[in-house]
Amino acid sequence: MRYNRIVAPVALAAALGVLAVDGTQAQTLRGSRGSVERMYGQAKRQDLTFYRTGRGVRSAAAEGELVRLRGNENYRVADASYPYALATTRTFVQRLAAQYRDECGEKLVITSATRPRSVRLRNSVAESVHPSGMAVDIRKPARARCLRWLRQTLLDVEGEGVIDATEEHHPPHFHVAVFPAQYGRYVAARSESGSSKRASSSRRSGGESSGRATYRVRQGDSLWTIARRHGVSVAKIKEANGMRSSNLSIGQRIVIPSR
Ligand SMILES: [Zn+2]
Repeated sequence: MRYNRIVAPVALAAALGVLAVDGTQAQTLRGSRGSVERMYGQAKRQDLTFYRTGRGVRSAAAEGELVRLRGNENYRVADASYPYALATTRTFVQRLAAQYRDECGEKLVITSATRPRSVRLRNSVAESVHPSGMAVDIRKPARARCLRWLRQTLLDVEGEGVIDATEEHHPPHFHVAVFPAQYGRYVAARSESGSSKRASSSRRSGGESSGRATYRVRQGDSLWTIARRHGVSVAKIKEANGMRSSNLSIGQRIVIPSR
């Protein structure tokens, strides 16, 4: 069962104490009480408004506190009564969808976004973050390859500490809460490095002797995902690290060459 591919290595790594090294939580897409509390805690700490009614959602949208998910060439919104979300959540959807479209050749489908408290679903928890506009639900892709890519990518981004993603089964979807402050910083850092100026990259590294960043390998990483995440080629990473094979071990530090 494919689901086990994600869960089992994490349990193994945790048993070996590997994940404790950099203090991150074990990354899985299994929903849990802890994950619900983490999302809710973030929403509370960031002082997000939990909208109670559809009217509240619409007036927040009119005031620009929520933005509309309009869909584009990379994603569409299906069945969502209130296709609004926080601006950072929409940015997440747009970025993820662009990559998804590249990888899979199909649009990402968003099935839910802001859901006022008056529209609580039968199986949703009281601490759902949907009323805050922080979360979106993404339909599970039918094609195995696309599903695998989406799972892995959500795990990768979750590993950066900027979202919390869970895989839900009734109906099958991914629930993703995007932490506004953290995700905002994450995107800002990336667009800065996206401009790829040598001067700014050595300034950013704040006096380190080389302008090159290092990265600690996490569970689920491959050279390919790391390369993609940092916008460099696999070949360049191998070259910068003098690697002959593509094998990685969790916790290993590798140099990320500048582009
Ligand atoms: Zn959800």
